[in-house]
Amino acid sequence: MKSLRIYGARDLRMSDETIPTPGPGEELIQVTAVGLCGSDIHWYSEGGIGSNTIERPLVLGHEFAAVIAAGPRKGTRVAVDPALPCMECESCQEGNPNVCPNVRFAGHAEVDGAMREYMTWPSHAIFPIPDNLSFAGGTLLETLGVAMHAINLGPITPADKVAVLGCGPVGLLTIQMARLAGATRIFATDRIASRLEMAGDMGATDLLLADDASGEAAAISKATAGRGMDVVYEAAGDPAAVETAVRACKAGGRVVLIGIPVEDRTSFTASIARRKGLTIMISRRMKHTYPRAIDLASSGKVDLKSLVTHSFTFGDFDKAFQTAVKRTGIKVILDLQS
Ligand SMILES: [Zn+2]
Ligand SMILES: [Zn+2]
Repeated sequence: MKSLRIYGARDLRMSDETIPTPGPGEELIQVTAVGLCGSDIHWYSEGGIGSNTIERPLVLGHEFAAVIAAGPRKGTRVAVDPALPCMECESCQEGNPNVCPNVRFAGHAEVDGAMREYMTWPSHAIFPIPDNLSFAGGTLLETLGVAMHAINLGPITPADKVAVLGCGPVGLLTIQMARLAGATRIFATDRIASRLEMAGDMGATDLLLADDASGEAAAISKATAGRGMDVVYEAAGDPAAVETAVRACKAGGRVVLIGIPVEDRTSFTASIARRKGLTIMISRRMKHTYPRAIDLASSGKVDLKSLVTHSFTFGDFDKAFQTAVKRTGIKVILDLQS
């Protein structure tokens, strides 16, 4: 089978490997589509993410759909949860598996991900998807889970006014979830005009091309007659967006940080956050959202399909990564079936 490994920054190599054998409780799956995530782009362009660096040639890919390739469920179309928390540590026992220190995560550290034709994975983290959900859509369920968890942290009360800063895949799905949660005003910002346009299609009521933090915050405040937003979701991973979030939030409001900062540091003007008594929350992955995410997508409540703007064959992986780095589209996927 073909397998794609990253050896260092901008060094991806495809090679032939043997098809793995499932261990106890695992199933063999044939990967059909893999999405390129912002974190994969960090690995690709910087050779690492935060304090993590590549220690061995690693198969990336944690946003993926597949078909079960053997056993009683053979032929079942599935989405796969890339996170395997231990379920035994204090965090897991307390109901916070998203911060499990022993988590095994596809495409990270010693766990190979989905940019290969076959892989094995525990059955309990493999979820059947209905026929009306495409494999391309299936790759976005992990991202949808991230947005759902961020909304839960908010949380949004009906008729809240919210801002979503950054309209990449997570931001766009946060906008859709905010609309479903009953927000009446959804103010979206991004540095890329085409992303803002899509934000409008997905339910944002106000669109602003991001330039400088104080100007943006003033524009957002103006939309609420100076009051500020009930909840601000920062999904840009950009220090300027964190500053905007703090400035655009109402006194007593909530700021949810979802983005991954490039410089691995988050800062904002303390006096503004302090005087407003803001609650600042940092969102980490998700909590068992797959069944609900599948339900939202297959019932048409959430549009995943429109987010997939680029699809490449597996052999065209270089083009796929370069396209994702340029951020011209929204979601780039590798289609392993074509
Ligand atoms: Zn991801
Ligand atoms: Zn644990």
